[in-house]
Amino acid sequence: MRNEDGTPWLPAGLFEGQTAFVTGGGTGLGLAVSRRLGGLGANLVCASRDVGHHEALLEDGQANGYEVLSLELDVREPHDVKRVVREAVERFGRIDVLVNNAAGNFVCPTLLLAPKGFKAVLDIALNGVFYVTREVGRVMRDGGGTIVNISAPYATTGKPGVVHSACAKAGVEALTKSLAAEWASLGIRVNAVSPGPFHSRGAADRLWPSEEIEQKILDEIPLGRFGTAEEVGEIVCFLASDASPWITGSIWLADGGWMLPNPLVEDLAKVRRRRNAGN
Ligand code: NAP
Repeated sequence: MRNEDGTPWLPAGLFEGQTAFVTGGGTGLGLAVSRRLGGLGANLVCASRDVGHHEALLEDGQANGYEVLSLELDVREPHDVKRVVREAVERFGRIDVLVNNAAGNFVCPTLLLAPKGFKAVLDIALNGVFYVTREVGRVMRDGGGTIVNISAPYATTGKPGVVHSACAKAGVEALTKSLAAEWASLGIRVNAVSPGPFHSRGAADRLWPSEEIEQKILDEIPLGRFGTAEEVGEIVCFLASDASPWITGSIWLADGGWMLPNPLVEDLAKVRRRRNAGN
C-alpha cells in the first residue's frame, strides 16, 4: 500500500527496537507480515513446526538488515510454547507484537468429518492461539504490547465444508474481544484481521484444489479478484503498530466484498468476465 507520492503508507522505522513474534511466519500471510514488520524495523521471532519453512524469511532478514530468530514450535503443545517464548525473551529481552497466524484447514462435508479431524483443526487454530497468547501476555503485562489474531469471514456467517475452521475462528474472535477488554489496563491491545480468499500455497492446495473451484470462489467476490498476502499483511501491521492506538477488540474484514449478500453473484460474474475479455 502506498501514499499518492509513492512512499509506503506505514512510515519507515515504525517498529524500530521492537520484537515481533509471528506463528507460521515463514509462509503465506505470516511471511508477508514478518517481512513487512522486519522492513519497518522489528526483530522477528518466526515459530512453526518446520524450520525449513523459515528460509525465505531468514534470507530476507539478511538482505534487509533485520534479525530473525527461527524456532521450531508446534502451537498445540503448551510446554513447547512456554519454551519458545522463553527463548525469544532470552534473545531479544521483550515481545512487543504477537501475530497469531498459524492455522490448519481443509474442506470436508461435516457428515464425513472425523472427530480427529475436527479436533486437529481446533487444537491448532483455537487452542494454539490461546496457549501462545497466554504465554506472550505474561511477557507483555510488564510493558504492554499488541496482539493481532488472524480470523476468517465465515467465523460470523458460517460456511459449508469448513465447520471445524469456522468454529475455531469464531472462538478466536471471542478470545480477541474478551482479552481486549481484560488486558486493556495492562497496555495490551488485541485485534483480529478477517481476510477473504488470498493466494498462499496452503490455501490453494487445500481450499481451491482445482481451477473450477477457484473460478467459483472468484465469481463470488464482487471486487473480482482474490486478495494478496501483502495487502492483508499491511492491515495486520497497522493494527500491530502505534498508528492505531485507540483500536482494540475490533475485527477487520478485508474480503473484496465476498461476504456481502449477493443474490446476483452469477450474473455479475458473467458481466465481469465479458468486460475482462473485451479489455
Ligand atoms: P499457510 O501458508 O499454509 O500458513 C499456515 C502456517 O501455519 C504455516 O506457516 C505453518 O508452518 C503454520 N502452522 C500450521 N500448523 C502449525 C502448528 N501446529 N504449529 C505451528 N505452526 C503451524 O496458509 P495462509 O493462507 O498464509 O494462512 C495464514 C492464516 O490466514 C491462517 O490463520 C488462515 O486460517 C488465515 N486465512 C487464510 C485465508 C486464505 O485464503 N489463504 C483466508 C482466511 C484466513 P509449518 O508448516 O512450518 O508448521
